[in-house]
Amino acid sequence: MTVLRRAWVATVCLAAAATAAAQPLAPGVVLVPGGFEAGRQPDGNSLLLQGSEGWLLIDSGRHRAHAEAVRAAAGGQVRALLNTHWHLDHLGGNAWLRSQSPGLEVWASPAVAKALAGDGWLDRYRRQLQAALPTAAAGQAAVMRIDLDLLNQAAALRPDHEIETAATLSIAGRRLQVGVETAVSGGDLWVMDLESGTLAAGDLVTLPVPFMDTACPPAWREALARIAAQPFKRLVPGHGPVMSRAEFERWRGGFEALLDCADQCLHPAACAAVWRSRVDTWLDDAGRARVNGMLGYYFKTLLQAAPEQRERFCASP
Ligand SMILES: [Zn+2]
Repeated sequence: MTVLRRAWVATVCLAAAATAAAQPLAPGVVLVPGGFEAGRQPDGNSLLLQGSEGWLLIDSGRHRAHAEAVRAAAGGQVRALLNTHWHLDHLGGNAWLRSQSPGLEVWASPAVAKALAGDGWLDRYRRQLQAALPTAAAGQAAVMRIDLDLLNQAAALRPDHEIETAATLSIAGRRLQVGVETAVSGGDLWVMDLESGTLAAGDLVTLPVPFMDTACPPAWREALARIAAQPFKRLVPGHGPVMSRAEFERWRGGFEALLDCADQCLHPAACAAVWRSRVDTWLDDAGRARVNGMLGYYFKTLLQAAPEQRERFCASP
């Protein structure tokens, strides 16, 4: 089973899908919050930006209910889509949205096509799911089948246009500053909407913890410094509530403290306590319950793993 699944699936009972209501953030800027219910894989946050040529969607979630909520919030008119990275909780909805909107144009970094190609991360994950499904317990199998169904539509997940370097560009008539990082997945886009000062950070900023399944921690510190240099008014994280600039800086301070704690070889539980003390105001009970387990896992597999393991995602993706 992949790292992605080990970290995220804590229980096997399927909870009902609860899709949070769309939230207007500014004129022509709408957040469709993601979710992370027990027994399900997460959906990332989605952001809709209304350009002169229609709605641009940033990240499509994983589950059908999330993609439906996004499409409804755009009045059924999603013109263009940009994926911040290839994790399925930000990419999976592409397939259904394409089926509903022929001609939908999709932008992403080259890392998406690489992950989906033969022997890329997602293609290996697809084969692992296929192999494990026959012997999986019923609840677990249902969760696995969702991802396998998405990965069997790989062509519909791929972008039409690749963004390889930082650029100012216009998509659907909305002007954007796009940054390209490698910290979380080998190809992570952040998107600054120049009109509203809203920055979509993808999984470079997440709660309840930083998701480090395919992360390069040193590159992550640098990426956050570049985001901090942008003149944004509000930041939409990949998972969790919208942040002001001051709140982002608090989150970033927690991230730095967490990495410093790990580098000093302190106990994972002590470092988790440091992290919680910085971000506790954002955590609900479910998030609080997940912090120690998720960070403990990331300490073992990455942050305090053998030296040759710690930067294994830092090579070219
Ligand atoms: Zn995510």
